[in-house]
Amino acid sequence: MIEAIILLGPPGAGKGTLAEGLKRSTDLIHVSTGDMLREQVKAGRPLGLQAKAYMDRGALVPDELIMQIIAARLDRGPTAARYLFDGFPRTAEQARGLEALLAARQGRVHKVVLLEVPEAVLVERLAGRRVCQRCAAVYHVRNIPPRQAGVCDQCGGPLIQRPDDAAATVLNRLEVFRRQTAGLINHYAELGLLVTINAGQPRDVALAEMVAALSGATQR
Ligand code: ADP
Ligand code: ZN
Repeated sequence: MIEAIILLGPPGAGKGTLAEGLKRSTDLIHVSTGDMLREQVKAGRPLGLQAKAYMDRGALVPDELIMQIIAARLDRGPTAARYLFDGFPRTAEQARGLEALLAARQGRVHKVVLLEVPEAVLVERLAGRRVCQRCAAVYHVRNIPPRQAGVCDQCGGPLIQRPDDAAATVLNRLEVFRRQTAGLINHYAELGLLVTINAGQPRDVALAEMVAALSGATQR
């Protein structure tokens, strides 16, 4: 039986950061479509080459490619497990695709955590975000600084700014979220699966709220 937890929220809401924190205290298998796509780009794979043009301009990668990587990921994983999806699904089509993949594996969506953050905070977070080129760990120049500037605490790799965190692209990504992804909020609310957390708070506070929401303590 496969159980899925979905992190839903705009770019900069902290999906990756919170997923990293949650991973430490649980047995969840973290699946970030953004990280997987960036790995494909780095490795120069055909799928990466196809995806890169969309990613660099802040557009969504076509659903078909995304469903391919998700299906392949589930096929490689254990048949009984809990997955934490970060950045997926992002369209109604992907949500339907996930439901079909889960149904074929006696699985289900357990909960969807909506990360709410004021837009001004999102822009500030994305502008200051730095990621490790080697292990994809996430930092922020002011809010989550590495011990040594420009160097990853975890692996010593170089910290870089993602190409799609450039100011012009950030606004496009926020618009893409509103247009193509925000509709999923209603979809999952209607299914009674949605829990909302205030992800505009400092990381550790938001993480504690998410852990509580997932254990069922603070559903609202
Ligand atoms: P963020 O949530 O901060 O935008 P991600 O790493 O989740 O960062 O995504 C980066 C980019 O990768 C997106 O702008 C999009 O181009 C692509 N991407 C990631 N996940 C998906 C998805 N589920 N569907 C379509 N495109 C995706
Ligand atoms: Zn690293």
